[in-house]
Amino acid sequence: MPKLNQNFLNLKQNYLFIEISKRVNEFKQANPDADLIRMGIGDVTLPLSPSVVEAGKKAFDEMGVKETFRGYEDSGRGYDFLRDAVSGYYKSFGADVPADEIFISDGAKSDSGNISDIFASDCPVTVTDPAYPVYVDSNIMGGRKVTLTDFDSYDAPQNGIVYLCSPNNPTGEAYTLEQLQKWVDSALKNNSVIIYDAAYEAFITESDKPRSIFLTANSRKCAIEICSLSKTAGFTGTRCGYTVIPKEVMLDAPDGLKTPLINLWSRRQGSKFNGVSYPVQRAAEAVFTDEGQRQTREAIRAYQENAEIIMNTFRDCGVEFTGGVNSPYIWFVCPNNMNSWDFFDLLLTKANVVGTPGEGFGKNGKNRFRLTSFNTKENTLEAMKRFKNIL
Ligand code: PLP
Repeated sequence: MPKLNQNFLNLKQNYLFIEISKRVNEFKQANPDADLIRMGIGDVTLPLSPSVVEAGKKAFDEMGVKETFRGYEDSGRGYDFLRDAVSGYYKSFGADVPADEIFISDGAKSDSGNISDIFASDCPVTVTDPAYPVYVDSNIMGGRKVTLTDFDSYDAPQNGIVYLCSPNNPTGEAYTLEQLQKWVDSALKNNSVIIYDAAYEAFITESDKPRSIFLTANSRKCAIEICSLSKTAGFTGTRCGYTVIPKEVMLDAPDGLKTPLINLWSRRQGSKFNGVSYPVQRAAEAVFTDEGQRQTREAIRAYQENAEIIMNTFRDCGVEFTGGVNSPYIWFVCPNNMNSWDFFDLLLTKANVVGTPGEGFGKNGKNRFRLTSFNTKENTLEAMKRFKNIL
């Protein structure tokens, strides 16, 4: 029999969502009439916007006609029409991102997990804690040592990689331009590469919070950016994202020469990825039209209103929190500094509300809890009423 990749034995079991569903199921069995409100899952709840659906349908019709049918996409990097649209989107908020540095993908999870393929197995990795678990897991699978640091430590490793996520999952915090510049300066000083996850950029409301790392000075020399339409436009079930790799970002080769990172990523994708389907790319293109932007922003506004309801409740109750303003996530200190699993049980049994214990995102989440604004307004109002009651 072949031997397994021993690095997998170093992965922590992902107990979080298994344990949540176990506890919820037990509660439901014991209390079949309880009206549960789920505010733990980071998935959108509103449907695709009409212009996106129309563009996708039209593209599928084209696929059924001999003259307009398409097979493999030649480059696998995404059609020009979509890469141009993404480049135009960046321009709309002041970032200069040429279309030939954009790679279309099936989402930010794949890209943020796969990008580690191109780094040496002894490359040091820094991840801010708490974090989206993919950054740590993908590097453990690759046999790399991962160091955890604080969101605002501004301490990039020497000749290594650092994962940043802003607005952050789970804390909802977003870097200001000055803070992000400190990370870029640290990466440049230490010859490291920043992998910047901008999956929640569309939720930013404050003008001092950049929507892209490419709004900082000199970031083109040390940063790549991963983004997605999952949260921007409700594509969690449709699947489309993009990664930007500036031509200036270099990696060291053993012969002492430098190799553009973009060449390695092109090679990696060329070997292991055959592109995103034509209809999905047409649907994604529609997100970036004026009408598409107007419609998708409406859904984001609805989630922002829910976040506002949660934040107001927490302010009324004196609960310390981050997020909500530039994010669908509200991350708070458990009342009386309770352990996050104990608070999970309290919220479930006394308020019939399901959230996510912070412990699942890293050691800094031990006494923290995450609620999301991906819900209806009615459910959010009701959940907050019950939350107030148990406090
Ligand atoms: N990055 C972060 C920080 C996320 O929270 C998520 C999903 O929750 C993703 C990436 C994955 O997004 P996608 O649906 O594009 O794979």
